[in-house]
Amino acid sequence: MSDAGIVTPGVSTRLPYGRHCVGEDDIAAVVAVLRGDFLTTGPIVAAFESALAEVVNAPDAVVCSSGTAALHLAAMSVGLGPGDAAVVPAVTFLATANAVRLTGAEVLFADVDPDTGLMGADHMAAAIGNAGGRRVRAVFPVHFAGQPAPMDEIVALARAHDIVIVEDACHAFGSTWETRDGGEARIGQAEHGGLAAFSFHPVKTVAMGEGGALTGQDRALLERARGLRNHGMTRDSEAFTEHALAFDAGGAVNPWHYEMTVPGLNYRASDIHCALGLSQLGKLERFSDRRRRLVAAYDAQIATLAPLARPLARREGCVPAWHIYVALIDFAAVGTSRRRVMDALRAGGIGTQVHYIPVHRQPYYRRRYGEQSLPGAMAYFERCLSLPLFPAMEDGDVDRVVHALGQALGR
Ligand SMILES: *Cc1c(COP(=O)(O)O)cnc(C)c1O
Repeated sequence: MSDAGIVTPGVSTRLPYGRHCVGEDDIAAVVAVLRGDFLTTGPIVAAFESALAEVVNAPDAVVCSSGTAALHLAAMSVGLGPGDAAVVPAVTFLATANAVRLTGAEVLFADVDPDTGLMGADHMAAAIGNAGGRRVRAVFPVHFAGQPAPMDEIVALARAHDIVIVEDACHAFGSTWETRDGGEARIGQAEHGGLAAFSFHPVKTVAMGEGGALTGQDRALLERARGLRNHGMTRDSEAFTEHALAFDAGGAVNPWHYEMTVPGLNYRASDIHCALGLSQLGKLERFSDRRRRLVAAYDAQIATLAPLARPLARREGCVPAWHIYVALIDFAAVGTSRRRVMDALRAGGIGTQVHYIPVHRQPYYRRRYGEQSLPGAMAYFERCLSLPLFPAMEDGDVDRVVHALGQALGR
């Protein structure tokens, strides 16, 4: 048991790279739904949405079945389609690029800073320059590892090109940053008028099991996403256009009537999942504080392995709610490989992971767009290794991981 009353059995000897942290209160919240009247869309969906909106300081939130679904709904809601293009940093999970591609739009991969994994405005501008004849309609900045991307410069460039912003905030629920004018912006607030997408997959800071959400300031955009989440169908009689079907001779609404104006999906989140999310949401501060303290401990310890291993570079004015702890390691300098280091750590009961293989190197995108030179993304990728980070870790676990890493690097 760690200081925050966070209990996770069975991890004291084996450390996965990430792990959810579910308490008896979370379990009770889910069980209460199972005993009630609604398993799918019921009152907890709306309750979770308003709680989420409040946390990110936005007027509304749309929860859905995954972070991937959130990104896809966002891409559809902003109107991406064939003939369009959208900028996506190469260092991200597959889902960011696929959300664009599934609308028929093309992906313009942007390079990233090799030391943060973040796309900046210069990388974005270079990607826009590769658009060919396509209309660049959107950009999907990724707040990699939980650290906010440089939004002031991205927003300025997006405005100049009339590009809508969809933040892939799946790593950054709970992160904040200082705006140019000295104010505090919360990730998800999306003051730029676009959207932010979150994931509540169990390795993320707050867990729904499977789940995700969109937030932002533009209520109309969020309403569009809400419609697409449920087949693009409406039961709002004000919106009906098929009057002969919708109303009876006396002008009353036929109770069975519904209309579809755009084809949508079933990306709904259930009350079961939202009950877990809502209960976990109350622990966001505690979870992210704990993650920040573990990251500080890692930073201090990794410094002893410099220059062979170092933390991600930090942007000033950011308070990240860290999702992963990435060490950048010069494997070649010690005559080893990532594979050998990973195997050695695994033998010591320590799980690690690689976030991520740059998406432009995936066979599908290579076939579609050919070879692309994104040296920052590749320089990042060659050095990255994600070390265990989750709230139930003890301070001593960090010592153990860095000690084992040092040994694997011959230190
Ligand atoms: C987790 C994640 C997603 C997808 O979220 P799911 O809930 O797993 O569908 C998308 N983008 C990034 C950057 C992620 O980390």
